[in-house]
This record gives sequence, C-alpha cells and structure tokens, in this order.
Amino acid sequence: MTNTYFPLDPTTVIDYVRTRPELMDIFRAGEALESVEVGDGNLNLVFKVWAAADAERTVVVKQALPYVRLVGESWKLPTERARIEAQALAVQARLCPEHTVHVYYFDPVMFCTVMRNLTRHVIMRRGLMEGITYPKFGQHIGTFMGRTLAGTSDLVLDYKTKKEQVARFINPELCKISEDLVFTEPYRYTERNLFHKELEPQVVALQADADLRVEVAQMKAQFMTHAQALLHGDLHTGSIMINQDETICIDPEFAFYGPIGFDVGAVIANLFLSYASHEVRTKDAAARAAFRSYLTDTVIELWAVFAREFAALAWANADSIDLPTAYRDRYLLQLLQDTAGFAACKIMRRVIGLAGVADIRGIEDVHERAIAGSLALNMAIPLIKGRRDVRTIADVVALATAARVTYPFGS
Ligand code: ADP
Ligand code: MG
Repeated sequence: MTNTYFPLDPTTVIDYVRTRPELMDIFRAGEALESVEVGDGNLNLVFKVWAAADAERTVVVKQALPYVRLVGESWKLPTERARIEAQALAVQARLCPEHTVHVYYFDPVMFCTVMRNLTRHVIMRRGLMEGITYPKFGQHIGTFMGRTLAGTSDLVLDYKTKKEQVARFINPELCKISEDLVFTEPYRYTERNLFHKELEPQVVALQADADLRVEVAQMKAQFMTHAQALLHGDLHTGSIMINQDETICIDPEFAFYGPIGFDVGAVIANLFLSYASHEVRTKDAAARAAFRSYLTDTVIELWAVFAREFAALAWANADSIDLPTAYRDRYLLQLLQDTAGFAACKIMRRVIGLAGVADIRGIEDVHERAIAGSLALNMAIPLIKGRRDVRTIADVVALATAARVTYPFGS
C-alpha cells in the first residue's frame, strides 16, 4: 500500500488494486488485470479495472485530483472532497442501499474510492438523450431521496448526532462551486458563462430581470444557510446509473447539509432539460409527445413517492409524532416550493453557465441548440417566479410545460 498520494494512471492503478486486501475476494494474487480510464466527469480520475480472465470480476477506482480537471491545475480543489464523497455514500448506503453504489473501501492516503463497477447500467442522461424511458425511475429516485433526506434531517436524527453530522459534512470548496455556478454567474456577465451566441438576446434579457435576480438571491441564501438534511449535492441525471430494473446513485462529492429542495429540484431540473432538448431531438410529434408524457409523469410520480417515503420516516419518531397535521402539510408544501425554485436555478445554470448538459450543449445544429436552450430558460423563469403559488406537483409541471420557444427572437 502506498503512504503518499500520487495520481494514478491506467498502469499504476493495476499495481495499486493488487496491494489491497479489501479486494482479495475479487482479484486473485498475481493474476493478469486490465484497466481503462473512463472519467468523462469534470473533476476526478475514474478507472475500470478487471481480471483479464473474467471481466465480471471488476471494480471502479475513483481518485480525486487536487485541481478541477475540466479547467486545469490553476483551479485548485481539495482532495478532502473524496472523504466527503465516501462518507456520504456510506450514509446513503445505510439508509437506501438498493439505490446507492456499493463501496468496497475508501483510501484516505490516495483519496480513492473503490466501488462496484456498474457494468449493466448507463448514465441516465445518455439514455434520456436517446429517448429511452425508465419506468421504475420515479419510484426508485423518490425512494432514494425520501429515505436519505428524511433520515439525515432533524426530524429523524437526535439533536446531537445531527449537529455532528453537519460538522462532518462541511464542504466549503465544493459548495462554493455551486454558489458560483448555480446561483451567481448565470445571472450576470462573466467570461466563464458558456451559452451559444444565438441565445445572447434572451440571456441578456434574463440577466437584466431584477425580479428574477431577487428570487435567485433568495434561493442562494437558502442554499448557503439552511442545513436541513445531508444532500447528495449534485443529483443530476449524470450522477445516476440506470437500466430497466435498477437505479443507482453515484458521485456525491458535493454532499453537505443543505436545503432538501436542492436535491429534488436537481432531479426535476434534469428531466425538464431533457423535455426541452426533445423539442429538437425528437422530430416526430407523436413520439415527442409520448416521451414528454413519460418525463412529466415521472416528475409527478417521483414527488409522490418522495413525499410518502419522507413522511413515513419523518413523522414516525418520538419528537415529531405529535406534530400537528397542518404543520406537516406546510413542511411538505415548503419543500415543494423550494424544489421549484432550485429546479429553475439548475435549469438556467445548465443553459447559461460554465458547466452545461449534453442534452442541450450536445445538439450540433446551432439553431436547434438555441431552440432547446430558449425553451429551457422559458420553463425555468415561471418556476422560480411562480413557486410560492404552487400547491401540488401538478402545478409545478403545469408552470414549466406552459412555456414556449421564443427563438428566433422578434419573429
Ligand atoms: P466526476 O465526479 O469526476 O464527475 P463521476 O463519479 O461522475 O466523476 O464518474 C465519471 C464517470 O465514470 C461516470 O459518468 C461514469 O461513466 C463512470 N463511472 C463512475 N462510477 C462508476 C461506477 N461505479 N460504475 C461504472 N461507471 C462509473
Ligand atoms: Mg462529480
């Protein structure tokens, strides 16, 4: 085992896994191993390693680099985030093992998490881009969020454990990335924004909308101060690996104690981004309508399941058992309205900000890309401005889906 940190490569990762007693059940001493680097992510190194004789015996090694991979060595980032990720995965695995990737071990010297290689799953975003539906997703992700968010909140944890957990998951550098990229940069001029120039008039108008900026500033303050539950912190469709039967969440390196609506809003935002992208990705009107019905039905289902699972845990413990029904209803309504507001910020940042999503940025034709981006922005604005008026998840869907494309402008 190593006692100093160094970044792995496809050769050294093989030597590395050989030394680990935790993997003795998977790899045999001295046998030939193969590896490939797969990291399509923005921040870390990710390798797949497998036995040459039997590719079913395989692991994923994820190693934190001391800088942001997408940007380069100039943007430093503490490798400490790998500890947060491993500890968040441990909490999520305890509360909802069926939807959390299994971790074999975390190495605090190499800042490596070694986990199950999800060979029969794909990144959900890729599937959605192709128009593939996942009928169990709403049920699965609703369960994951209901259990992990209620189970780490003050409604379930005792007063002392909760505060200890808040301290353990203080994650300032990664939170700062969200503060900048989700809540600050998209709403003002900055060179880091990366929208396509076709969209500029709409982006400029959005950035000049003082009412909108008030609402975004409120969401940002909530993000920074409301330590409600242990969030995954980056629960977009690129952090979900899926097939027709299973849904597994990966990559909670942005985990911290924050507002519950930020996680639920992230999932919904990404379904709405997919909805907007299929404005041009699916040309056939009937096929487009069918896929969009799947997306909106999923939003409705995941909220219903989330609310049910959340309530089952949250209101069952000794301190909350006698809370008035009116309070419980208000609590969940507040979560719904927060979810709408955070979803809107997540949509806007993915269209305007530094880190986009392939659903929209991957559309090759610039005009088609602008059409999808325009629709996404027009879906987001009523969600955040109208969030205080929503009473049900159907209201949230109605707000977003009433939006229309306004590109090309002035036509
Ligand atoms: P980053 O934090 O750098 O974004 P991710 O954890 O998202 O890294 O992983 C990057 C990519 O590596 C994922 O998009 C996925 O393709 C692949 N990957 C990560 N973890 C696994 C896993 N457990 N099984 C299979 N593939 C994985
Ligand atoms: Mg990540």
